[in-house]
Amino acid sequence: QQAKHSSLGQAVYSAEYDEQKSYHLALAGKLHRALEKGELTLYYQPKISMASGRIIGFEALARWIHPKDGMIRPDVFIGVAESTGMIRAVSSWVLDTVLQQLAQWRESGLHLPVAINLSPRNLQDAGLLESLERFCTHWQLEHGMLEVEVTENAIAENVEQARASLLRLRALGIPVFIDDFGTGYSSLSTLKTLPFSAVKIDKSFVIDMLEDRDAAAIVRSTIKLAHDMELAVIAEGVESEAIWIELKEFGCDIGQGFYMGKPMPENEVVRWLATSRWGMPQ
Ligand code: C2E
Ligand code: MG
Ligand code: MG
Ligand code: MG
Repeated sequence: QQAKHSSLGQAVYSAEYDEQKSYHLALAGKLHRALEKGELTLYYQPKISMASGRIIGFEALARWIHPKDGMIRPDVFIGVAESTGMIRAVSSWVLDTVLQQLAQWRESGLHLPVAINLSPRNLQDAGLLESLERFCTHWQLEHGMLEVEVTENAIAENVEQARASLLRLRALGIPVFIDDFGTGYSSLSTLKTLPFSAVKIDKSFVIDMLEDRDAAAIVRSTIKLAHDMELAVIAEGVESEAIWIELKEFGCDIGQGFYMGKPMPENEVVRWLATSRWGMPQ
């Protein structure tokens, strides 16, 4: 019975695998053209200081606005970019776009940092790190205005290489945050040996924390542990006022979520900043 199952499983698996592979290849080709045709864009989601209740920065999130298929989520195309080697081109575009945006905002008197997401591969890519250094010089990046988010898995893949890359980012004055914390296998004590400045608790725990005692315990103990290690804590997935209040009680430093502000296109940012209660102090 075992053999029958496994051969059946294999057959199903390989057909599915082929299908997925050709889907990925087709999408990768389209993604390549999308980059050239300018179909990728960045949305900006505010991060709010829990102490002041005001914005302290943005996270830039990639969107692919396909002329026929509509908006394609990054969860779909970032994976494709990673598995086809296009992630360098995508990240390089993200970086250039954000630095351009920061320069434009600075011209108009807006002074808020923006975080970009880098993929695990990017941390092992000497070429990308070099263009990052070049771009930062070209755009005369001020220290602290560009931030980087990487997942714990990006680190776990190769700790020593990650350390070297993080040190290069630090030399450029770029704070690095551990994204989706709690979903991987690394412990805070390993991470503490690396030059990080903050931990972002994954939204799966935050969204559930009012109903699920375990999720709440994870959020509370991560905040405590991170603070003991002198790391700041950002919670993503703040979907309601009740979550905001609970996080504040737990001593969380920064919140990000639909309750305060959804990711928005660049042309909505200025109005949001002027009209939202979470926007710039008057
Ligand atoms: P992430 O970096 O953890 O980003 C947070 C995700 O949570 C975003 O999804 C954001 O829209 C969503 N989110 C924010 N607040 C809430 C909330 O209150 N409730 C819920 N349910 N969701 C919330 P998004 O924009 O779809 O991005 C998904 C992931 O794709 C990101 O997760 C990041 O890992 C990746 N990604 C996005 N843009 C880029 C990029 O430019 N480069 C790379 N390498 N990855 C990216
Ligand atoms: Mg992120
Ligand atoms: Mg995250
Ligand atoms: Mg995520």
